[in-house]
Amino acid sequence: MNVQQAIDEANRCLLCHDAPCSQACPGGTDPAKFIRQIRFMNLKGAARTVLGNNPLGGVCANVCPTDDTCVRACLRSGIGQPIDIDGLQRFAVDYGRSQGVKAFAKGKELPHKVAVIGAGPAGLTAAARLATYGYPVTIFEARKQAGGMLRYGVPETRLTVEDLETDLNEITALGVEIRTNTRIESKNAAAKLLDEGYSAVFVAPGLWKPLALNIPGADLDGVTTALTFLDDARVAPETIRTLVKDQFVAIIGGGSVAMDVATTAIRLGAKRVYALALEGMTELPAMGDEIIEAMELGVVIKPQAQVSKVLGENGRVVGIEGHETEWVVPGKLTPDNAKKVDGTRFSLKVGALVQAIGQGATEAVGGIITPFKSDRGLATADKQSQATTMKKVFAGGDVVRGAGTVVDAVGDGKRAAEAIHELLSEGQVAL
Ligand SMILES: Cc1cc2nc3c(=O)[nH]c(=O)nc-3n(C[C@H](O)[C@H](O)[C@H](O)COP(=O)(O)OP(=O)(O)OC[C@H]3O[C@@H](n4cnc5c(N)ncnc54)[C@H](O)[C@@H]3O)c2cc1C
Ligand code: SF4
Repeated sequence: MNVQQAIDEANRCLLCHDAPCSQACPGGTDPAKFIRQIRFMNLKGAARTVLGNNPLGGVCANVCPTDDTCVRACLRSGIGQPIDIDGLQRFAVDYGRSQGVKAFAKGKELPHKVAVIGAGPAGLTAAARLATYGYPVTIFEARKQAGGMLRYGVPETRLTVEDLETDLNEITALGVEIRTNTRIESKNAAAKLLDEGYSAVFVAPGLWKPLALNIPGADLDGVTTALTFLDDARVAPETIRTLVKDQFVAIIGGGSVAMDVATTAIRLGAKRVYALALEGMTELPAMGDEIIEAMELGVVIKPQAQVSKVLGENGRVVGIEGHETEWVVPGKLTPDNAKKVDGTRFSLKVGALVQAIGQGATEAVGGIITPFKSDRGLATADKQSQATTMKKVFAGGDVVRGAGTVVDAVGDGKRAAEAIHELLSEGQVAL
C-alpha cells in the first residue's frame, strides 16, 4: 500500500465507538486508533501506536490470523468489505520504520534482574516490555537464534528472516540480552534462577515435542513430523528438497500446520501432495484461506480418512494404507470418536510421510517449574497475571494455552511483564 491507498482505505473506516476491532485483538493492539491516525495523516503516530503496543508489530502485520480476530470483528463488513486492517498495520510499520520512528526506549536501569526462558513471541514481548521499565532482562534460548516458531516453524513465504530480524533488532537495542544455545533443563530450573539473583522468571518455552502416531511402519526412513520438516525447510532446505523432490508426499493432519507442510512440499518440488484428515471438508481445523491456497497449489485433501499403516521396502516408506472414517458422536471431532467405515480401505504410493498432528511440551519443560501444574500436559498460569503456583515465577505462550497464535503469545508476554513490574515495583521482593 502507498500513502494514498492507505488513506483511502482508512477513509472507509466507520470510526466506531468502543471499536470492536480493537477489543478483538488478543495482543492489545488498537487498530481503531492507528486507522484513525492514518486517516488524519498522522502516519508516524500510527506506527507508534502499533509498535508501542506490540514490539512484534511488524511480524504480526505479516502472520496474524486477522480473519479470526480484528477483521472478523470489523463492523464495516456489515455494509461491504471489512477494513484491510493487516494491510494498514503493515503500511504503518513500514512507513514508521522508513522515517526512523522508535516506539519504545530503554528505561532508567532498575536493580531487579529478570530471567526469561525462551526467545519466542511470548518471551521477546515480555523482555521488551520489562526493558522499557528499566529491568535488566536475560533471555535463555535453546536454539542458535532467537524467534522461536517465527524462525523455525512459520514458512518463509509468510514471514521473511529480514522482517523478523527488524523487530528483533529493536528489542535487543533495548539492552535485552539473549543467551542463545542455552537450553534450561535442569530440575527446579526456575527456583535455581531465583537463587542466582533473578527477582522474577518468565517461562515461555513453547511446545517443541512433535506428536507422532503409534502405527506400524511409523519408524521407517522418509517418515517425519511437521516440526522437523518445517524446521529443516527453513534452516536446511536441501534436506527437504531431497526428501520430496518428484515424490508423492502424504501429510497426516488437516490443520494450519498441515497446510504449511503441504504448500512447502509443493514449493520444494513434490510431484503430488495429499493431506489426510479425520475431519470432514467443512470441519478441517485449518483456516479457509489456507485450505484454498493449498488446493490452488494442487494439494489433494482427503477428508474423513485415517492412515493405519505405513508400508516400507528396504527400511524406507513406499506407501500408506488407510480407510475412511465417520464420527461415532456427530460433531465430536476427536480421534477417539472416529470409526472405520467398512469397505473403504485405500492405499497410496508415497515416498515421504509427514505427521502434522500437533505438538506438546518437552520433558525438559516439566522440570523448570516445580511442581509443574499440568493441565493437558501444559503449564498452568493465572489468566490475568500469568502467575504460576510458584512465587515470582510466571508462564505464558503456547506452553500454557496449547498451540495458539503469535498475537496470543504477545498478549501473554505483555500481561506477564505488567504483573512482574507490579510485583517488583511494589517492593514485594527483597533486594
Ligand atoms: C508451523 C507453524 C506455523 C505457524 N504459523 C502461525 C501464523 O502464521 N500466525 C500465527 O499467529 N501463529 C502461527 N503459529 C503459532 C505460533 O508460532 C505460536 O503460537 C507462537 O510462536 C508461540 O509463541 P511462544 O513464545 O509461546 O513459543 P515459541 O515460538 O515456540 O518459542 C519458544 C522458544 O523457547 C525456546 N525453548 C524451548 N525450550 C527451551 C528450554 N528448555 N530452554 C531454553 N529455551 C527453550 C524455543 O527454542 C523457542 O525459541 C504457527 C506455528 C507453527 C508450528
Ligand atoms: S471495527 Fe472496522 S469500521 Fe469500526 S473502527 Fe474498527 S476497522 Fe473501523
